[in-house]
Amino acid sequence: MKPTAKGQFVGWMGLTLTVPENWDLVHVKGNRFDGYLRFEEDGVLRCEIQWTLVSAGRVVLDEQVDHYLKSLEQMLSKQGKPVSIKRNVHLVSRRQVKRNVRDFSWEAGTVGYGMMWFCEECRRALVAQVVGYEHEPVKEWARQVFLSLSDHAESDWETWSLYGLRFEAPVGWNLSKSELVPGKIRLLFRQGEYEFAIARYGPASVLLKGKTMEEFAVEALGKEVLQRFVVHYRLEQLHGHEGMVMVGKDKGSSNPLRIFLRRLRTGNPFPQFRGALWECNHSNRLYLATAAIAPEHEPLWERLVQSVRCHEEG
Ligand SMILES: [Zn+2]
Ligand SMILES: [Zn+2]
Repeated sequence: MKPTAKGQFVGWMGLTLTVPENWDLVHVKGNRFDGYLRFEEDGVLRCEIQWTLVSAGRVVLDEQVDHYLKSLEQMLSKQGKPVSIKRNVHLVSRRQVKRNVRDFSWEAGTVGYGMMWFCEECRRALVAQVVGYEHEPVKEWARQVFLSLSDHAESDWETWSLYGLRFEAPVGWNLSKSELVPGKIRLLFRQGEYEFAIARYGPASVLLKGKTMEEFAVEALGKEVLQRFVVHYRLEQLHGHEGMVMVGKDKGSSNPLRIFLRRLRTGNPFPQFRGALWECNHSNRLYLATAAIAPEHEPLWERLVQSVRCHEEG
């Protein structure tokens, strides 16, 4: 489902979904093959999604569901409340979600609705659950969340979105590092020796106090980048905001010996540094995209920077 203005759109490892605005994403774990997302509201579990790669063999979904529900029942009954589990609760139809799903619900003091499915295309088995109290519209929440769920991108670009940072990244570049701390989100992607990163910092008004944009950029890029590349900075409007474009050359690319050694080792050209930094005054954040890429990646870079949504339009 396409993201709507209402609700919080989350995209991670090819998975996308929309959950209510006030559900906080408190756990982001794992990778493309094995991972977990957990949302809570005021410390109470609201929704969790788990996926695992099933690389070979046939998946008998009903057996998986049996297995899963058995362990769920054991876990719930430890809490000392009577447990009742129902299967095939017709939460969503196969036609609606366009995949072969099994759904279930349980009651044990709290109420949960769940859905399990296997995607032939990305070869992932997934379980999603929405949890609440009896007096809450848990079934309706579950229906909304499950209908919004997509487990892989339909094109060769996929949407990444969390904590308000949203952009598209090309499939095939792997997330190799993520920093998710208050005031800073940074996701780094790699393919071979090339890489790019998208980062968001805030609040901009505090970070830019007594500092120029270039000074902030120098700090954010860090020693590693500046030791490797000669970087030029140019003020430029980006996404309708004040910003700065950075272009850098690998220091080794003007050293005949380094060029010679690199040719022996790899046929690849030296990576070039690209950067884009802008201050979004609507969201009071700073956005920084950086890359060390080959000249052939230029269109990819352009699209990547364009895809970053720094504030909601209109
Ligand atoms: Zn899939
Ligand atoms: Zn903006």
